[in-house]
Amino acid sequence: MNTYKPLPVSFARGQGVWLWDERDQRYLDAVAGIAVCSLGHAHPAIIRALGEQAERLLHVSNLYNITQQQRLAKQLAGYARMTRAFFCNSGAEACEAAIKLARLFMRQRKKTTIATMRGAFHGRTLGALAATVGENESPFAPLPGGFVQIPFNDMDAVVSAYKKHPGIGAFMLEPIQGENGIRCADDRYLQDLRDFCDKRNLLLIADEVQSGVGRSGDWYACQRADVEPDILTTAKGLGGGVPIGACLAKERVAECISPGMHGSTFGGNPLACSAALAVLETIEKEQLCKQAADTGDYLKRSLQAALASQPRVVDIRGRGLMIGIELDDDCRALARAALEEKLLINVSAERVIRLLPPLILKRKEADLIVDSLAALLERWNASGKRH
Ligand code: PLP
Repeated sequence: MNTYKPLPVSFARGQGVWLWDERDQRYLDAVAGIAVCSLGHAHPAIIRALGEQAERLLHVSNLYNITQQQRLAKQLAGYARMTRAFFCNSGAEACEAAIKLARLFMRQRKKTTIATMRGAFHGRTLGALAATVGENESPFAPLPGGFVQIPFNDMDAVVSAYKKHPGIGAFMLEPIQGENGIRCADDRYLQDLRDFCDKRNLLLIADEVQSGVGRSGDWYACQRADVEPDILTTAKGLGGGVPIGACLAKERVAECISPGMHGSTFGGNPLACSAALAVLETIEKEQLCKQAADTGDYLKRSLQAALASQPRVVDIRGRGLMIGIELDDDCRALARAALEEKLLINVSAERVIRLLPPLILKRKEADLIVDSLAALLERWNASGKRH
C-alpha cells in the first residue's frame, strides 16, 4: 500500500555499523532501523541465538509455558526494575497493553482519563494513536476517548490539567521524545511528576520504546532521574532486529489483569525471546550502556564543535546515542543528500536530524558521522535560502 516513501536504495547485507547496497556500495548506518539494531548488523550473538533456537523450536503458543519467555521476563524486569512482563511484537502493541492495563487499574479507582504529552508518539494503532494525538482531529476519527494532552516537561501543566480533569488516573510520557526531534524531559520534572502521582495514587507510564534497552546510556532513560514508572513499554532495540515488544509493570498494577483479558499469538515466542536474551546478555557483557553513554557524549561534543560555525544549526541535544540536531528550517531533503554521501540519517519533526546509531558505535565511526554531516550541512547552508 501507499504507506511509505522509501529512499532509492535496497540493502543486501550488513556488518556492525555498516550496510552494503545491492551494488555493493558501503553506507555508515546512523539510523539502525530506527533504533532497532542495537548490536548493529550480523552480530554473532544474535546469529547464534537465532540459529540454535530455530533448530530446536521456533514457535509455541502462550497456551503453554515458554521457558525463554520466562527467562526474558525475569531479566527485563530486573533491568527495568519492574515485576511483571507481557510480550508482544511492536512498540504500538506494548503501548496498547499499557493503556489497557492502566484502564483496569483506573477503573477500580473510578478514574477515566490518561494524560499524554504534546509531541508524543506512541504508535499507529487506534489506542496508541489516540494517546499520540489526543482527541484532536484525525483522519482516522473516531478515536478511542479517555485521553487529554498536556504540554511536555511542564509541571504547572500537570497540576492545572489535574485540576481541570479530576478523572485523570495516569500520566503517560516518553522520557525522551523521539519522533518529536529528541526532546528530553528534565530529571526534576520526572521526579516531581512521580511524586505528584504517588501522592494521589495515579499511574506513571513511561514509553521507552525508543529510549530503552541502553540507548540513552542507561538501561531505561527514567533511571537517570532515579524514577520508577508503574508501567514501562519497551520494543525496538530489544530484539536487535527481531520484532518483539513488552509492557512491564509493577505488581500492584499487573495484578489488575487476569487470563483472557489480553494476549498475542506471536508475542513472546521462543525465537523472538531468544534474540532478546542474546541482546540483553551482549549489552551486559560488552557494557554497551556505558559505551552508548560515552560514545554518545563524544559524538554530541564533536558535533557541537564541528557545527559551531554553522549558522543554521539551532540546537544539538540528546542523551546517549539518541541525538538530535535541530536546524532552522525543514531539512527532510537531507536524508537523501546524506544517502548520496553513503551516510544513513533520519529527520524527525521536519527540522531535526535524528541520529540513532547502533550501541556498538566506536569513536572513529562517530568521527566519520561528524565529518560527513559537517560537509553536508556546509553545502546545505551554501545552497539554501530559508524556504
Ligand atoms: N513509542 C515510541 C516512543 C516510539 O518511538 C514508537 C515508534 O517509533 C512507538 C511507540 C511505536 O512502535 P512501533 O512502530 O514498533 O509500533
